[in-house]
Amino acid sequence: MPTIREKYDVLIAGTGVAGINCALHLPADAQVLMLTKSAADRSDSFLAQGGICVLKEPSDYNKYFEDTMRAGHYENDPAAVELMIKSSPALIGELVNYGVRFARDGAGNFRYTREGGHSEPRILFHDDVTGKEITSHLLEAVRKLPNVHILEECELLDVISAENECFGGIVRENKTGKVFPVYADYTLLATGGVGGLWENSTNYRHLTGDALGIALKNGIELEHIDYVQIHPTTFYSEKHGRRFLISESVRGEGAVLLDKNMQRFCNELLPRDIVTSAIRAQMQKDGTKHVWLDMRPIGEKTVREHFPTIYRHCLDEGYDVLRTPIPVVPAQHYFMGGVKVDLDGRTSMKRLFAAGETACNGVHGKNRLASNSLLESLIWAERAAKAMAAEGFGKDAPRPRADLFAYSDYETIKKDYAEAIREEAEREEYCD
Ligand SMILES: Cc1cc2nc3c(=O)[nH]c(=O)nc-3n(C[C@H](O)[C@H](O)[C@H](O)COP(=O)(O)OP(=O)(O)OC[C@H]3O[C@@H](n4cnc5c(N)ncnc54)[C@H](O)[C@@H]3O)c2cc1C
Repeated sequence: MPTIREKYDVLIAGTGVAGINCALHLPADAQVLMLTKSAADRSDSFLAQGGICVLKEPSDYNKYFEDTMRAGHYENDPAAVELMIKSSPALIGELVNYGVRFARDGAGNFRYTREGGHSEPRILFHDDVTGKEITSHLLEAVRKLPNVHILEECELLDVISAENECFGGIVRENKTGKVFPVYADYTLLATGGVGGLWENSTNYRHLTGDALGIALKNGIELEHIDYVQIHPTTFYSEKHGRRFLISESVRGEGAVLLDKNMQRFCNELLPRDIVTSAIRAQMQKDGTKHVWLDMRPIGEKTVREHFPTIYRHCLDEGYDVLRTPIPVVPAQHYFMGGVKVDLDGRTSMKRLFAAGETACNGVHGKNRLASNSLLESLIWAERAAKAMAAEGFGKDAPRPRADLFAYSDYETIKKDYAEAIREEAEREEYCD
């Protein structure tokens, strides 16, 4: 393992869009350590297919706001929604400056697609690999920063805290099992979602809500831990492991859902939770393990141009979407709840921030509007970085000693965390 400093200005757990964008917005002289439980490019941010929302013109503000609120069953924080929407054009400009390519028309203008719950096309995309396009460019940029060090295959096990103030984290190197403390003025939890705790999920298996477990243990405020989003359409398979997502924009572009008799049974463009309910009800009525999704109405040109990855994946599974419907089933996809944060990503613990899917900032309410999550993750990460910089570095408060012995039984700690989160979430799992 490379030499690790005893103390950093900022410790970031997670190298998805949230972790990376925080690092990119910290001052160039701040010493930053980023941890990731797996390889740096194995994050859900790389998996995002559909795209990223943007306020494409001021006249769309009211509709975009209303679509987000309606999808969230009006449990969203209006101030957070407003902040996200109004920050989106500048954020997209930054991504373009980093070299991110979004689909454009012949005149060079952005092309917009739409997904369920959107009353307007307002989603920027890059084929069906928008997340990879965004995250790989940002990761490349952060890797070039001399003040940022990335530790792969290293996991945050806990925060070091005293009197509700965070002094850094306890880290475990996965290969050797070595556990060590990292002190920092500020710590950012950006550990992504909880899909690894579910049998059927579109998420990477190593995303097990670790930051939530840490929060539960340390009395850090959580919010809506039971708001788990199920995606209506993942490729049905008998195999175990991560479920392959069939992006919502497929339905936005005209694909239709069919029952066992190849008849349509719902409006495919309603918000995710409603379409999920309709599919589940249909499966129950038909006594089937999946329904069908027919992509033929989209047309060959758009399928090949806009959805090449989905097209190839289905071919590998034995289905040519240009000729035949594919089997689809709902699966766990996204986590709306999380570590409660304010508009700058501050948690209830001093000097501890959270951003991305692991945080709950109020944007999504009870149900996320499609393609709002990359956007809010990026925006809150930037805001957290700026809030840290504004509060200043070089804290010299006496540091509490970290009791490393307490982490010797790693498997039990992980199991306890996972069980605690599932227990909370299942009290009222939000599926229907
Ligand atoms: C298949 C799929 C398609 C999606 N499509 C879209 C879309 O089209 N548009 C959209 O807006 N959103 C989409 N999403 C959601 C979006 O990708 C995520 O919400 C977003 O990328 C979350 O970013 P993040 O940085 O919070 O987490 P992630 O990108 O998941 O990164 C989490 C990071 O934390 C690390 N980590 C986890 N635990 C620990 C630990 N204990 N210690 C250290 N590191 C840890 C992981 O290794 C990883 O680096 C999709 C999600 C999936 C799964």
